[in-house]
Amino acid sequence: MNAAPARVTQAADWRLDFPALRQSVHGQPLVYLDSAASAQQPEVVIETVAAYQREDHANVHRGVHTLSHRATEAYEGARDKMRDFINASARSEIVLTKGTTEAINLVAQSFCRPRLQAGDNIVITHLEHHANIVPWQLVCEQTGAELRVAPINDRGEVSIDELYELVDERTLLVGISHVSNALGTVNPVEEVVAFCKGRNVPVLIDGAQGVPHLDIDVQAIGCDFYAFSGHKMFGPTGTGVLFGREALLEEMPPWQGGGDMILEVSFENTIYNELPYKFEAGTPNISGVVGLGASVDYLQRIGMQRIADYEHELHDYMVSQLRDVDGMRFIGEAANKASVQSFLLDDIHSHDLGTILDHQGVAIRTGHHCAMPVMQWFGVSGTCRASLAFYNNRDDIDRLVIALEKAREIFG
Ligand code: PMP
Repeated sequence: MNAAPARVTQAADWRLDFPALRQSVHGQPLVYLDSAASAQQPEVVIETVAAYQREDHANVHRGVHTLSHRATEAYEGARDKMRDFINASARSEIVLTKGTTEAINLVAQSFCRPRLQAGDNIVITHLEHHANIVPWQLVCEQTGAELRVAPINDRGEVSIDELYELVDERTLLVGISHVSNALGTVNPVEEVVAFCKGRNVPVLIDGAQGVPHLDIDVQAIGCDFYAFSGHKMFGPTGTGVLFGREALLEEMPPWQGGGDMILEVSFENTIYNELPYKFEAGTPNISGVVGLGASVDYLQRIGMQRIADYEHELHDYMVSQLRDVDGMRFIGEAANKASVQSFLLDDIHSHDLGTILDHQGVAIRTGHHCAMPVMQWFGVSGTCRASLAFYNNRDDIDRLVIALEKAREIFG
């Protein structure tokens, strides 16, 4: 027997860990192909959060009593797991946020805003999620700086040479996604970082779609900031991480003020806390972060490289099967892709197609995927997007194809 069927069998086992995948929708076993929007959680994450809530919950950092110690240990333990997961060099480089969006806004307001002057610029790409566009627009409006956008080609790949041409001595930062949520394009982030390093330009990577599918090593990538969300990596919503290089985080002022981010407060002089607490004002999402720690343990038990290999094979299968469906138009055909395929079928509106598929138990995402500039570039109002996780298998893809064929019959 060759390796492929063995891996597929393995996925069947992983799938059993996810209670949400055991249900029927509209009388059909659920096929969940919307993990790029939010991934399902394994039993161990759900149970870890529940056990924490039942037995250990108290506020973190400030208490002398036993429950507060336990909560602090669990919360800070999760930070250590995140450090290990992305191979940051120190736990002080792991700022816990409520997600990618908050992490990018933090960098825009704390790193960029104090430094940017009229005439400076920030460089991003045309395939970014709104979370990696609008925070830069806001800070450019606030400072008179310019937002420059590197174009994409008709396969949905960033024109890297044109990106490099946009970087000059007035560039404060380059922001680029690791993997595009709308197109699945994997950007050559190591190459971009190497180029920018040579010019002393910091790089922020939006890793929301990178972390769930690739083995991430921020030191090997060499980036200055890497942002991601817990709910895309099988953890709770309202959790996420900003990795930042310690030297840069040290220089940055706090973004939000409040409890926990201070060492001492008086009306005359307030002394800020050390890293990473300087950036974590107020009571955090403790139970969510504890759950995120459990999801990291779970992913590491399987192994991210194993997940990446399995998904790569499944993605190839999805693309080959979808390509054969009559009336299929792919949006996004980059040479290097992960997890996602966007498409349109005949002239059926994406929302109509999504609804027909839902009635057959198949969950995909439809619309602009928070990437309106990508839609504008391809001249469409939205797309249908099937996105994979390691709990999907070939049967899921076959069910998608059958559902699409049924939709074609319905729409004549
Ligand atoms: N960037 C990318 C590439 C994404 O896919 C998403 C979520 N769709 C985000 C940023 C924003 O993530 P969140 O809403 O969890 O902050």
